Amino acid sequence: MGLQIYNSLSRKLEDFAPLNAERVTIYNCGPTVYDYIHMGNARTALVTDIIRRYLTHKGYNVKLAQNLTDIDDKIIARAAELGISEKQLAQQRGDAFLEDSLRLGIQPADVHPKATEHIPEMLTLIQRLIDKGAAYVIDGSVYYRVNAFAEYGKLSHRKPEDLLAGARVEIDERKEDPRDFDLWKAAKPGEPTWDSPWGKGRPGWHIECSAMAMKHLGETLDMHVAGEDLLFPHNENEIAQSELATGKPFARYWVHVAFLKIDGRRMGKSERNFILLRDALDNYPTEVIRHFLISAQYRHPLDYNPESLAKSEGALRRLNNCLAALETYQTADAADVEGEAETALRNATLQMKADFQAAMDADFNTARALGAIFTLIGAVNRFIQQTETDAAAVLAHAREALIETCGVLGIYNAQDSDVQDDSGEMLTHLVTLLLDIRQDARQRKDWETSDKIRDRMKELNIEIQDTRQGATWKFIS
Ligand code: AMP
Ligand code: ZN
Repeated sequence: MGLQIYNSLSRKLEDFAPLNAERVTIYNCGPTVYDYIHMGNARTALVTDIIRRYLTHKGYNVKLAQNLTDIDDKIIARAAELGISEKQLAQQRGDAFLEDSLRLGIQPADVHPKATEHIPEMLTLIQRLIDKGAAYVIDGSVYYRVNAFAEYGKLSHRKPEDLLAGARVEIDERKEDPRDFDLWKAAKPGEPTWDSPWGKGRPGWHIECSAMAMKHLGETLDMHVAGEDLLFPHNENEIAQSELATGKPFARYWVHVAFLKIDGRRMGKSERNFILLRDALDNYPTEVIRHFLISAQYRHPLDYNPESLAKSEGALRRLNNCLAALETYQTADAADVEGEAETALRNATLQMKADFQAAMDADFNTARALGAIFTLIGAVNRFIQQTETDAAAVLAHAREALIETCGVLGIYNAQDSDVQDDSGEMLTHLVTLLLDIRQDARQRKDWETSDKIRDRMKELNIEIQDTRQGATWKFIS
């Protein structure tokens, strides 16, 4: 049996078959960049990373888009508190998000669309909805007419009365129906605004994700990943907007990641009970945090506590000790004579590979996959203690299998793991150093050097922007 994924839309495990046999498109609702990301956000980002790695390991060509919500009420409020512009705040926290992700061993997505860079696409999508009678304008704001979409509620499986209860959070007398939600918010004094056919304003959160996902991945995506908090109303509204506009299914597999909790409550920025990922990374190696975050299958809640992290530290120690003991066995195909113990270890290795694949194929069951890996580690340790024959080939076979499977999960790096742990930080230091050198060159009016640094960095997908406060940088795709 191949890969099966639990689809929140059907509430069933489904066989995975992408629209295009070779290419899988994934959209992940990324962070609202008004603060550093916490361990809860990291869980969803890491699950997305593991899905991407596993699909790549299975031979698919994955295209991942992970957005940054860089305009929103919370960004406006926090920027005012800090006395900086929304743009500056979003730029800083967006860069910090990418840095923290890298430190957690998450490679940048193929594209990181930002809401403020996709206003024209949003305006076009809103106009399409108005033209279809699915949206209406009141005093410069545009609302989605929920009644126009007969399937509204199909993702959250909510009854009409529950949908109303959810919508009452934003009471607005002018709406035709309390469930209707804003696609475009008319300008308020002091807020950033963009021009639109309906007057100055800014986009609603839900239309941002629909427009960015469709622009970068097409009108039907293979997979949409988000934390379970976003299922309603955000993801429900993304479906309503996109499917009414295109007449096509928006996403084929809806993946929702269960909460990371702390003291039994959801970890969240608004709950004020969060542990920042960057703080956790200062206290634990990358691989320990990754191990902890995948120690439960993604649809099960996971509790953040020092005991669980200590367990992950212990597990990583066992893994690293085992791989250190296997270090000298590097060729799997040497033809040694095998006794009973060797054959048993060879079989245990084959069994681990099969169990790992079966676990990951069962809706990315990382907990079971780790179980398979640690069962083999136990067998290798016993073998090394009890067997005196030179069994280079079977040990190399076990080593290779451990490195391959741990590589998919990102809990082992063949290079010195200390170097890997610090790679995100090191990158930041190096870019900052280059910006300093460039700044000195600019002060000397040495434009040639300054431009050379900017252009060469652009070739490496790092864009420098000169602002009144100095130069900033960001990854581009
Ligand atoms: P936000 O910045 O709050 O929009 O969240 C960014 C991503 O993190 C979204 O996909 C959320 O669903 C996810 N998320 C937020 N809190 C948690 C949590 N405690 N556990 C798992 N995922 C979360
Ligand atoms: Zn989203």
